[in-house]
Amino acid sequence: ATYDVTTSPVQGETGRGLLVFFEDVTDREQAEQIRRDFVANVSHELKTPLTALLGFIETLRGPARNDASARERFLSIMEREAERMNRLVRDLLSLSRVESEERMRPEERVDIVALVNSCALTLRPMARDNGVTINVTGHTASVFVQGDSDQLVQVFTNLIENAVKYGGSGGVVTVDISVADRELAFRGPGVNVAVIDQGEGLDPVHIPRLTERFYRVDGHRSREMGGTGLGLAIVKHIVNRHRGRFRIESAPSEGSRFSVMLPVV
Ligand code: ADP
Repeated sequence: ATYDVTTSPVQGETGRGLLVFFEDVTDREQAEQIRRDFVANVSHELKTPLTALLGFIETLRGPARNDASARERFLSIMEREAERMNRLVRDLLSLSRVESEERMRPEERVDIVALVNSCALTLRPMARDNGVTINVTGHTASVFVQGDSDQLVQVFTNLIENAVKYGGSGGVVTVDISVADRELAFRGPGVNVAVIDQGEGLDPVHIPRLTERFYRVDGHRSREMGGTGLGLAIVKHIVNRHRGRFRIESAPSEGSRFSVMLPVV
């Protein structure tokens, strides 16, 4: 622990003395360290594509000026790098919006079953391109939660996309919806949406850290797939804002299950 120490002189009955105050500033220091790491990470993540862009602009002005095929190739790389920066800025903005709204209760009445089915429908073509089928199973009738539909779409889109990207080797991603009349955590009914893949799974050491900003098990692979490292951090904050619970279960070679439980209205 780290302490801030302040003193103040006192005049007592038996003479002069000194009062010493200890204030535990461990939390404050940790928060400051997290902020510094975050800024360093963001700068690094932005600098990499920027450096590539500047390098290619230089080449296009110089050596590749009259080479049409090189120009085309470089422009596609530049486009990819610019898209990477675009995704990063988009995710940073979402994260900051979600964090600033975390104390405000979302107000819409949202049919979570319809919303999850529509996310699955939207992502099916992308999954098909990766050789993955998305199945939605379990509860089919409407279930309402008090929520922010755009943010909930973001939650299930992130989880299903991750399951396809990292757990797609199993060929099937299942989104299972179940309802419990009395969910202990909410002292009332709850709906549970589990996104299950049959991929390689995760070593348990990674699980508690997956929702940290920019934490990736395999940085190279995540970047190759267009990941920003912010998806699960955003998911965690949105679920918190909805007074829900987010749970990750996974084991090497057994696939993973990412579950979101929300109170039913
Ligand atoms: P990214 O943009 O890198 O996908 P996320 O925050 O969404 O960032 O995920 C963080 C990391 O968690 C990923 O880089 C990946 O290593 C791991 N991960 C996420 N989902 C899965 C999954 N379904 N199976 C295995 N690993 C996963």
